[in-house]
Amino acid sequence: MRSTTLPAERVARFHAIETARFLADHPRCVALHQQAQRHFLFGVPLHWMADAPSPVPLYVDKAQGARLFDVDGHAIIDFCLGDTGAMFGHSPAAIARTLAEHGADGATTMLPSTVALDVANLLEQRFGLPMWQFTATASDANRFVLRWARAITGRKHIVVFNGCYHGTVDDVFVDLDTQGRTHTRPSLLGQVVDLTTYTRVVEFNDLDGLRAALAAGDVACVLTEPVLTNIGMVLPEPGFLDAVRQLTQEHGALLVMDETHTLSCGPGGYCRASGLQPDVLILGKPMAGGTPGAAYGFTPEVGARMQAVKAAAAPGHSGIGTTLSAGLLTLRLMRTMLAEVMTDAAYAHMFAIAEQVACGLERVIEGHGLRWTVTRIGARCEVQFAAQRPRNGSEARAAFDDALEPALQLALINRGVLLTPFHNMLLASPAHTETDAAVLIAAFDDALTALAAA
Ligand code: PMP
Repeated sequence: MRSTTLPAERVARFHAIETARFLADHPRCVALHQQAQRHFLFGVPLHWMADAPSPVPLYVDKAQGARLFDVDGHAIIDFCLGDTGAMFGHSPAAIARTLAEHGADGATTMLPSTVALDVANLLEQRFGLPMWQFTATASDANRFVLRWARAITGRKHIVVFNGCYHGTVDDVFVDLDTQGRTHTRPSLLGQVVDLTTYTRVVEFNDLDGLRAALAAGDVACVLTEPVLTNIGMVLPEPGFLDAVRQLTQEHGALLVMDETHTLSCGPGGYCRASGLQPDVLILGKPMAGGTPGAAYGFTPEVGARMQAVKAAAAPGHSGIGTTLSAGLLTLRLMRTMLAEVMTDAAYAHMFAIAEQVACGLERVIEGHGLRWTVTRIGARCEVQFAAQRPRNGSEARAAFDDALEPALQLALINRGVLLTPFHNMLLASPAHTETDAAVLIAAFDDALTALAAA
């Protein structure tokens, strides 16, 4: 695809220079990638890893705090943080201690423990919802919540916003195309059911569209992030989320807030910080210290309906839950995260670093005469190749530049900093320092200078 913001030939030359530099600097990664072809799809253990911006994967030896150490001897300042899984830094000391202390105490039993009660109490204090269930991943949490929502409302349809991502949940891989028509995401593999049958897609910030989608009274739930964070970033306009809350209530649909990413907005996520009261809240990624662990919380009223529908159902498989969910070790790690790692002080530090990053990047962008935006929500920043902040998923998608983005991200890796691939997302952790932020800003400046000279 052609660069939309800079001459395509220049971007291509820049990309070629940075590719050569990466390959020269990473001989061991190159050799390992050759060996890996025999074992892995595209030479990687999870095929997404092949879509990273480097010409061969960056093989990581270890990750600590805000640093990755690659097999070629480079230390890289990590602003990707496992795409949020390590948002509080790699192996925070309290997590390493919990693993050391309890590694020999059993990992999974399919039985409850006092640890589970401790975690539920901590979650309630923080997020305000008393009832909880646990899953292995945020994808699972979303998938199971859709099942509950349909079961308790007796309705088949759901509503999501254009450009959303909620994990590998079949029902929500639906988008609006450039003509505004709903279609199944064309990249999906092996999809045999027409997902547009029961999923309606509305643009974010479009209340009329949402009203129309809810009007028939057949929608079980609206599933959304409070800020779209997976199509670049789209902020809610003032009053939008309150209106979503009101409309869902009026039409008997549950409001499910996926805070997997917006946990970056504060100790209780975006909803707690803004006073929004969803029926169901989804948490995932960093909750168990970077190991698989997620949760969904809900109101007592929703909980009572869940219990009633399960009690009335035929005995047997509910289609909700997996064997390793709510495991003892996972919950120990969650307890440590909630009690010792995700503290107010940690958030204050993360916000300060993210603010330094956002201001610094804005200055650099302006200094290079580029009209791009930087948006920050708490500890998370996003650089978008557009002069205005996008108002919805279509505008955010239009700001993607599939030639420029990987070239720029590769140039940053070559300069010792890692962003989240697939869009320009940066996270600040408690382990980042002001110097780390300054290195990132200088690297961004240097990369743009090299781009201009290519
Ligand atoms: N919800 C949101 C908002 C996400 O961004 C993601 C992952 N990017 C998920 C859910 C799914 O998380 P996981 O891949 O850990 O299941």
